[in-house]
Amino acid sequence: MPRNFDAIIIGTGQAGPSLARRFAAAGMGVAIIERHKFGGTCVNTGCIPTKTLIASAHAAHVARRGGEYGFVVSGDVRVDMKRVKGRKDEVSGRSNRGVEESLRGLKDCTVIQGHARFQSSRTVVVNEEVLHADKIFINVGGRASVPPIPGINDVSFLTNSSMMDVDFLPEHLVIVGGSYVGLEFAQMYRRFGSEVTIVEMGPRLIGREDEDVSEAIRGILETEGVRIRPNAKCISARKHDRGIAVGVECDDSASEVSGTHLLLAVGRTPNTNDLGLDRAGVATDPHGYIIVDDQLQTSAPGIWALGDCNGRGAFTHTSYNDYEIAADNLLNADHRRVSDRIQAYALFTDPPLGRCGMTDAEIWKSRRAALAAKYPMQRVSRAVEKGETQGFIKISVDAETKHILGAAILGTGGDEIVHILLDLMYAKAPYPVIQRAMHIHPTIAEYLPTILSMLEPMPGTP
Ligand SMILES: Cc1cc2nc3c(=O)[nH]c(=O)nc-3n(C[C@H](O)[C@H](O)[C@H](O)COP(=O)(O)OP(=O)(O)OC[C@H]3O[C@@H](n4cnc5c(N)ncnc54)[C@H](O)[C@@H]3O)c2cc1C
Repeated sequence: MPRNFDAIIIGTGQAGPSLARRFAAAGMGVAIIERHKFGGTCVNTGCIPTKTLIASAHAAHVARRGGEYGFVVSGDVRVDMKRVKGRKDEVSGRSNRGVEESLRGLKDCTVIQGHARFQSSRTVVVNEEVLHADKIFINVGGRASVPPIPGINDVSFLTNSSMMDVDFLPEHLVIVGGSYVGLEFAQMYRRFGSEVTIVEMGPRLIGREDEDVSEAIRGILETEGVRIRPNAKCISARKHDRGIAVGVECDDSASEVSGTHLLLAVGRTPNTNDLGLDRAGVATDPHGYIIVDDQLQTSAPGIWALGDCNGRGAFTHTSYNDYEIAADNLLNADHRRVSDRIQAYALFTDPPLGRCGMTDAEIWKSRRAALAAKYPMQRVSRAVEKGETQGFIKISVDAETKHILGAAILGTGGDEIVHILLDLMYAKAPYPVIQRAMHIHPTIAEYLPTILSMLEPMPGTP
């Protein structure tokens, strides 16, 4: 006889635990299943540990720049990787324990450790026990992709997960993949003291961003000594006297980058291949992402998919927003939709990149009349005072409605300041609202009204 619940949640990523709490509070009997670490990617191998490591790297970087600020550090600044890892483990571990304890402490919530598989659209098997519910929520996340790079099985390599165990300084870290995850690790390890080379297949870093953003970030990393090898069309791997070598050219086998350690940062694969989705009638796309509608329902009635596994977002905040959509629609008879959210994310290099709305390329594609302004951080007095003048702020608005279309804030505080523009977008308010607001001096945000007064027709738009 299956054990009956009102709802079953598979995975404790960024949607599952909040959903369990909300259901339990509503008096529903919930089972939540986790096969590995409570809190999933963000807590254990993603956002939290990487941002903690980035903070250590930033502190070392500032110490090395002591002379610029008028203080002396006697001797070299050297990083003790065991202590850096210890700090990271402490912060990430606290979060991991917090998720587990909060779930175990919930009344009417059964926490099960094990791998869940569908038996039918209403039943799930875990540890040979059958669980039944009329509502099932999939929050299984993803893992680092390991593409079939020639030679990859003959060398040892790291991913974002195994990087979490590194308690030594790699002499030369070669990172395959010049996108968000790769760039954060690149700057972090360069600041820890490693030599770092990024091998990127495309012509530029973070190819989804506008060219000026890519170029500026490339400049920032190169200034710190990160080497970048773009246009690596034929990537291969082999053992080398130093450790590993990564081939980069199709017709020149001698053209390679060698180093002591290899990190693969080439995208994510959803954890959907071992869930028995076919037995539940849940359809996936060719990449394994679960197909969902605007309210996150899968092709099987009564089954929802939330977070990275549905391909509708790849961030903690998109997964958490998925939870809010599903919970509000089910419990509050709301009509929240995925398509109501506005694209927003950050790249946590130093300085960070805060992004909201459309890129320039997306605005050009939409063929609407737009105005745009761009302002260098060198002319922002707070950035000058802080000695952090790299980057720029650029904002685009709709020429007709005066609504903000998109922004990129690459500069100190960019990950926070971008929310001012994001919230104005959610409020559907025109940009002059910001121009009439009195901002605090001296801040980076005080320049937003100034920048908006410099808007001009955006080249390439009607
Ligand atoms: C290096 C790195 C840095 C990142 N930094 C950021 C950042 O700064 N900001 C940001 O917004 N996002 C960041 N992300 C992305 C972010 O971590 C994810 O988008 C976020 O964790 C959402 O994941 P999720 O809720 O889909 O599931 P996950 O967090 O991936 O959790 C899924 C859980 O399901 C479990 N599971 C899987 N299959 C089963 C099964 N069959 N049975 C039982 N349990 C199962 C897994 O063990 C896992 O615990 C980063 C990612 C990486 C890799």
